[in-house]
Amino acid sequence: MEVIDKKRIEEIDPHAGGEFALYVPSSGILDPMEYTIALAENACMNGAVFCFESEAEDISRKDGFYEIRDSKGAVYRTRWIVNCAGMYASKLSAMLGYPDYPVKGFKGEYFVLDKKAGAFLSIPVYPAPNDNGGFSTHATPTIDGNVLVGPDSYITEGPEDYAVTKEHMDGLFADGRKMFKEMKREYFIRNFAGIRWKRVDPQTGAVLDFMLESDDAHPNTVNLVGIESPGVTCALPLARRAVKLLIEKEKALTGGF
Ligand SMILES: Cc1cc2nc3c(=O)[nH]c(=O)nc-3n(C[C@H](O)[C@H](O)[C@H](O)COP(=O)(O)OP(=O)(O)OC[C@H]3O[C@@H](n4cnc5c(N)ncnc54)[C@H](O)[C@@H]3O)c2cc1C
Repeated sequence: MEVIDKKRIEEIDPHAGGEFALYVPSSGILDPMEYTIALAENACMNGAVFCFESEAEDISRKDGFYEIRDSKGAVYRTRWIVNCAGMYASKLSAMLGYPDYPVKGFKGEYFVLDKKAGAFLSIPVYPAPNDNGGFSTHATPTIDGNVLVGPDSYITEGPEDYAVTKEHMDGLFADGRKMFKEMKREYFIRNFAGIRWKRVDPQTGAVLDFMLESDDAHPNTVNLVGIESPGVTCALPLARRAVKLLIEKEKALTGGF
């Protein structure tokens, strides 16, 4: 990493805004949809079975096995459960007997810019971290050649509130221009919103780190709650940690395999 001045910023990308910056040449972008599909294909080749449109509604434990009852009435018997249910992870956490961890939804809206704008931006441009250590609106070229501008960040109560609003679009425009000098309204082709479900301290409201736990009081479970940004970047390391916990327990039970 390198601290660089305005002259060097302009050499690297003349359309990136900023007076000075921390240059991270190893920073990268990916298509999270394709990435997820690729991981699913790999899991499928390794024997994973997917049960789509099936919501786990009840979990009970009998004779060393869990029984998961889903919304279609089907019952699945399993030795292990890994809770990685995203925005509903706290609900599943409580079903497993772990705490119903308080979470808060930090909604973020985005602009998708036309590929004409994509021709002007070669690197992701982030602002300095805010007081909570998070990043707000940044400009990111996509692997398809568009530019994403966003997300901003504000608290939402609605669990599936994905509306986009003029107020926030205007804010994105103002902040986005600081990151990407070619940000123009004529390039806007789409908006969308997402929600980062962060684990929070119930007393202070302070945002807490990812939770990854497994203990003997909740046998054969791994519980992941509050896996918000950068949960995609951290997905493989988190999965490796979850598998490590599982293997450690199985070794203790079986004497190793
Ligand atoms: C605006 C925004 C910007 C972000 N930017 C970045 C970024 O730049 N970099 C980065 O690394 N990360 C980023 N993230 C974070 C990242 O998207 C998430 O951390 C990640 O997608 C979480 O993955 P997950 O598998 O834990 O949860 P999810 O992707 O939410 O998957 C959980 C799954 O569990 C299923 N499920 C839930 N309840 C049940 C149930 N009862 N029964 C059965 N299935 C259930 C859901 O249907 C879903 O398929 C961003 C997120 C947002 C919203």
